[in-house]
Amino acid sequence: MSDFLKRTWAEVDLDKIEANYLAIRAYVSPQSKIMTIVKADGYGHGAPFVAKAFDDAGTDWFGVSNIEEAEQLRIAGIEKPILILGYTPPEFAGMLIKQRVTQTLFSMEYGEQLSAAAKEAGGTVDVHLKLDTGMSRIGFLFHGEEDAPALLQDGAAAAALPNLRIDGVFTHFAVSDEPGNPFTRTQFERFIRAVALLEEQGLRFSLRHCCNSAGLLNYPEMQLDMVRPGIILYGLTPAVGMPLPIELQPAMALKTMLFQTKTLTPGTPVSYGMIYRTPSARRVGTLPIGYADGYARSLSDRADVLIHGKRARIVGRVCMDQCMADVTDIPNAQSGDVVTVIGRDGGETVSMEEIAAQMGTINYETACLIGKRVPRVFFKGGRQVGKLNYILP
Ligand SMILES: *Cc1c(COP(=O)(O)O)cnc(C)c1O
Repeated sequence: MSDFLKRTWAEVDLDKIEANYLAIRAYVSPQSKIMTIVKADGYGHGAPFVAKAFDDAGTDWFGVSNIEEAEQLRIAGIEKPILILGYTPPEFAGMLIKQRVTQTLFSMEYGEQLSAAAKEAGGTVDVHLKLDTGMSRIGFLFHGEEDAPALLQDGAAAAALPNLRIDGVFTHFAVSDEPGNPFTRTQFERFIRAVALLEEQGLRFSLRHCCNSAGLLNYPEMQLDMVRPGIILYGLTPAVGMPLPIELQPAMALKTMLFQTKTLTPGTPVSYGMIYRTPSARRVGTLPIGYADGYARSLSDRADVLIHGKRARIVGRVCMDQCMADVTDIPNAQSGDVVTVIGRDGGETVSMEEIAAQMGTINYETACLIGKRVPRVFFKGGRQVGKLNYILP
């Protein structure tokens, strides 16, 4: 018997995770550090395990979205620096200090609150200044010279805040996945200019960073002191059709199984809403995966799964916990067979990108949406080395 629920599960190949990291490391300038981004449970791959793999492979920093994700890494034994890329309520300053986690500082209002909370907690919070150079999401605004006076004032004020220590500065690109779009260069120039203005104010930064996956691949000259790859670590492409200068290996496969098959006469409706009717006598199999597992309802009547290396079409609506596939052309398909929902089986592959396109979204979202009732099972050297069960940890 397997030691995880073989209903629907995700297999994560840690050798591929490591290979992707090493390919990125080899491509990035030796002067640039790497911050591996493991937010959102490592893009759905299982943060504690993938973070450990990046740690062993030599990453310099980790990036997460919030303080709980940072704590999760500390509990998993990660001792390297961690940057929270987003918001932490100031009342958690004590936790930032205790866990030695660096926080993004995005405004003076927030800086004052965080500084006061850090003082109360009796320690110093490390921060990286975030500059908004055109994404208009978070950060001190610098969209052009007209923003220089405010930036200078805020920079000096931030540097003077007690109980905060600024040691990095960064920005985030909006269109680095479009190699021909001049806006990335505009953002980079604004960033360089803003950093120079802050340095004139006496601020000093040991780490300047701006590149996400697409940025570091498409604009090697913008790698600076550190880069922040996310999606490519998992072997997924930053954008459909973007040329890749390095080889990536998708690390996750989503699997389920066939648990009932039946032969239906022509004209038989299948699933909720009866949007599908068998056009002829069809053999239909039922799979224990549904939209609650992240297999979106928008895949109804559209996506393919792989059984014995062959494609089978999902017919009718995807339900919360189950869906049906037409297995007429796979006569040896029988209950108990493993079904590959995302991944490779024999010569056929259903990629994360294929499923994302059918869902009307991007591979990032498809990976993140894989449900928390889907156990993650980890492999190294072809052997199972661990598992994550979110329901019964
Ligand atoms: C998510 C994120 C990244 C990584 O982005 P990818 O496109 O996955 O490489 C880098 N920096 C910031 C600030 C992010 O939020």
